[in-house]
Amino acid sequence: MINLLDLDAAGLTAFFSGHGEKPFRARQVLRWMHRFGQADFDAMSDIARSLREKLKTLALVAPPTVVADRLAEDGTRKFLFDVGGGNAVEAVFIPEDDRGTLCVSTQAGCALDCSFCSTGKQGFNRNLTVAEIVGQLWQVRHALGAYQPAATVGERVVSNVVLMGMGEPLANLDNTVMALRLLLDDNAYGLSRRRVTVSTSGLVPAMDRLRDECPVALAVSLHAPNDRLRDELVPINRKYPLHELMAACRRYLEKAPRDFVTFEYVMLDGINDSEAHAREVLALTRDVSCKFNLIPFNPFPGTSYRRSPAPRIRRFAELLMASGVVATTRKTRGDDIDAACGQLAGQVLDRTQRTARRSFVIHQHRQEACG
Ligand code: SAH
Ligand code: SF4
Repeated sequence: MINLLDLDAAGLTAFFSGHGEKPFRARQVLRWMHRFGQADFDAMSDIARSLREKLKTLALVAPPTVVADRLAEDGTRKFLFDVGGGNAVEAVFIPEDDRGTLCVSTQAGCALDCSFCSTGKQGFNRNLTVAEIVGQLWQVRHALGAYQPAATVGERVVSNVVLMGMGEPLANLDNTVMALRLLLDDNAYGLSRRRVTVSTSGLVPAMDRLRDECPVALAVSLHAPNDRLRDELVPINRKYPLHELMAACRRYLEKAPRDFVTFEYVMLDGINDSEAHAREVLALTRDVSCKFNLIPFNPFPGTSYRRSPAPRIRRFAELLMASGVVATTRKTRGDDIDAACGQLAGQVLDRTQRTARRSFVIHQHRQEACG
């Protein structure tokens, strides 16, 4: 059985021709699955009954299962998905006045082990499949009512997608690119390249491939202005140091849908947040057209880092702005639902290992989420 959510338009076309069917079937099924959220072949009414029967024997439409769905007081909604083998991943929906952003995971765990990251501390389990990446959006759209026939506005509830959840998208490049193609495809989610953002810790060769294969908006996790500090916070820096990363950003901008790169910078008390660091950041990024997103550190159990105090974050932002660099500070949202990326999934994983009775754990979690 093949999961049709694993295939983009080209893959589906190949699937149908491989079974002696016309290529336009790919477009029909793509629309049913992604535009209308349909998983049941019997409901795909413009497809001949004989083909529907054949599809049932060959394929299925299987998104990952939602095992928790928590709504924070500020409207942020966090979803937890079971991806099998004791692994769970998260997606977070962040509603704002003029848009709705969904933050999606690309791996269960992460191998890159950044020192301040809860996901990194869980180690690497595996890459998510295309169905598991896109299936997060599919499930969230269902949960938000975006697939309801009456919900004409609902169609636009998720207006932006950011690959900034658990995992390093560029370490799972093939599946990430195929998932991106579905996000952009007019027969699927039809998002513009500017409204889809990939966040990377700086895998330089993969940044070049993304630029050539499917350029979308790019965010780069900078977090430190010199190699000594970045080696410590973002260990992949030892392989791709800052001068290579800055050159890769400049190459990316040649084809990027936006004319700037967003640098993410986690604000860690006493580590990377001084005025001297801000000046070093400005010097480092002088030749890259960029904006900054300062992220107040989200603490999680077991970490020794602390969030920079608000006045210091403000001062850091002011110094960047004074040199003409746009710097926004991320609102800390969803604090009451374990906002730190990977935190909720980490709890499920821990308890799973302790009890070795996963179904019970998930059940318990669902009760907590609803209660
Ligand atoms: N692996 C990719 C994308 C996922 S992480 C990357 O590293 O860019 C998304 C963002 O959250 C990154 O900028 C990451 O550095 C940041 N982040 C990770 N842990 C954090 C924490 N505890 N508090 C604040 N930001 C964190
Ligand atoms: Fe992986 Fe990103 Fe976390 Fe680093 S910050 S460990 S790259 S998920």
